[in-house]
Amino acid sequence: MVIDPTIRLLEDLIAIDSVNPSLVPGARGEAEVARRIAAECTAAGLTVDITEVAPGRPNVVAVLEGRAPGPTLMFCGHIDTVGVAGMEAPFQPVHRDGRVYGRGAQDMKGGVAAMLGAARALAEGGGLPRGSLIVAAVVDEEHASLGADALVARWRADAAVVTEPTDLDVAVAHKGFQWIEIETRGRSAHGSRPDDGRDAILRMGRVLSRLESLDRQLQAQPAHPLLGTASLHASIIAGGVELSSYPDRCSLHLERRTLPGEPPRAGLQEAVAILDRLRRDDWEFEGDARLMFGREPYEIEPAHTLPAALVRAATSAGCQARQVGMTFWSDAAILGAAGIPSVLFGPGGAGLHSPEEYVRVEDVCLCRDALVALAREFTR
Ligand SMILES: [Zn+2]
Repeated sequence: MVIDPTIRLLEDLIAIDSVNPSLVPGARGEAEVARRIAAECTAAGLTVDITEVAPGRPNVVAVLEGRAPGPTLMFCGHIDTVGVAGMEAPFQPVHRDGRVYGRGAQDMKGGVAAMLGAARALAEGGGLPRGSLIVAAVVDEEHASLGADALVARWRADAAVVTEPTDLDVAVAHKGFQWIEIETRGRSAHGSRPDDGRDAILRMGRVLSRLESLDRQLQAQPAHPLLGTASLHASIIAGGVELSSYPDRCSLHLERRTLPGEPPRAGLQEAVAILDRLRRDDWEFEGDARLMFGREPYEIEPAHTLPAALVRAATSAGCQARQVGMTFWSDAAILGAAGIPSVLFGPGGAGLHSPEEYVRVEDVCLCRDALVALAREFTR
């Protein structure tokens, strides 16, 4: 059986461990997979730039220049993966039933192989008459997106496709998120002395019940047509020392998922308002909230031509692409905020971030062919 060169490249990428070392201390990171990608781009005749974003963690940016000036299109994909706990042979690509299994197969070495395959097909098919194509393989999306931040600091494009897995639909929007810490404070005392003790955990209970009704309100609001409603959930809670004592502290980490158009610190403002109300009801109540980390939601400008152009390109390549929204956050928000209108488009599969992960072989090839068609049209 002759294996498509893009699929052979995908197998190579899966076989190289590129677990994100910020997620899993001591993990290998992206250096080796970046070398493989740089070699692929050089072999295809692209100009390759390698920049260390953090020690041992390089972005690879390759450029295919057209023969005359014109628009610049970017393809962007992350080359780190999440950890491999519970997987038997995470870096051994396995073919079964038209799928390739392995860590990162769907998230997102399938998309990276497709964008590299597209660049190669364009270069070998006579290059671009006009404009240029930038192919960006970036580090650290699964943690803090150091790679995308570094990319937009140096590179510009008129539009971008982030090849995260979308089942070959064109995703024009995704949610954002905010991680918030709330702490309630009490007073430690012997469990037999209610006059002295102030229970920080029960006080957090008041916060939790208000958070629950806030979540109900958020989910009762009119839904975004592609993304549904905003929401929140309590993620981690900690407090208390021993059975016989009043706890003096309780801490809660919560996640608020946000929609385009919401204020940038919506979740934090809501938490602060809840605490203010609880203080008004009970002068002894003590607690505060802080924003730990957050990422903005994203939606491409409705009038932008990129989504329709990509749907056309995908249709010409044999996909039935629709315009959709994705719930998960992506680097498209960073590109979009930097003035590069972006969409997501990538192959289908299943099991991202779980022990059994695969990507559909046919989808990887269709994704590549759609990207080729888009680049030809967009740079014309
Ligand atoms: Zn991803």
